[in-house]
Amino acid sequence: MKDYLIGVDIGGTTVKLGKFNLDGVLLEKWDIPTNRSDHGRHIAKDVIDSIYSRVRMDAIKGIGLGVPGPVKDGIVLRAVNLGWGKTHLEETVRALLGNQDLEIAVGNDANVAAAGEVFQGAAKGCRNVVMLTLGTGVGGGIIQDGKLIEGAHGVGGEFGHIVIDTTHKFACNCGKAGCLETVTSATGIVNVAKKRLLEFKGETPLHSFESFSAKKVFDFAKAGDPFCQTVIDEVADYLAYALSIVTLSIDPDVILFGGGVSLAGEYLIEQVKKHFRPYVEPFIHEANFALATLGNDAGIYGAAYLVR
Ligand SMILES: [Zn+2]
Repeated sequence: MKDYLIGVDIGGTTVKLGKFNLDGVLLEKWDIPTNRSDHGRHIAKDVIDSIYSRVRMDAIKGIGLGVPGPVKDGIVLRAVNLGWGKTHLEETVRALLGNQDLEIAVGNDANVAAAGEVFQGAAKGCRNVVMLTLGTGVGGGIIQDGKLIEGAHGVGGEFGHIVIDTTHKFACNCGKAGCLETVTSATGIVNVAKKRLLEFKGETPLHSFESFSAKKVFDFAKAGDPFCQTVIDEVADYLAYALSIVTLSIDPDVILFGGGVSLAGEYLIEQVKKHFRPYVEPFIHEANFALATLGNDAGIYGAAYLVR
């Protein structure tokens, strides 16, 4: 009997694994360190060995894998955090499994996280979903008609790298400047605040900190500090503008916020909504925004969804 789905979320420091029943209930989860030595060539074998050590292979219906990089037809085009160049991951995993008859699927981690929320999270049952993971970087994921948008170049959903800011033009990790990521990730929000702070003559509690986090900026904004409110207002406008482009392109049922920055919660949603409305009217009056609910497990849920 094929009783289980395995979801694997390969990150730069740890690989998370989850064993699910066919209804998508998480039965067991564990993680192993990511071995990035030799350009990450041991990672796939480590993953399969780890699954072998816990689950009978003939009981597995499929293994889904999420990776931090663009993916096209089971091929990872590159994953800098794993030390990978172009990697035929689906083929490699299939070879490691020998003749086992099971499904294997590979997806980009941000898209896979969005799929996880569709499977068992905040967008359960939705067909069209946009998810923004606001962490150290900005990951974008799009599910359209229940499927991940991979695109012609494996970069479907990479709206974290739409060039949106023409004021600060902070350098992005991707090599460009002014990407959404540079002004709305946790690092980006701090960059905007620091830059605005240099120009600001008034009083703000931020002045008493040598360094501060995005959370501090949110906390002071929520507590009523006008300077921090201006910073969040600016950040929310970038997010709203980028999301309006995505929304008028695919018209999602719901837009989800995940990642560390989304812990700012309803306050973040309210600020983005305020700016979003004028960008999408008169076509959409009330957009549906929500917070992702699966946290760090979204990746394993979504990977399992790929082979459900
Ligand atoms: Zn970029």
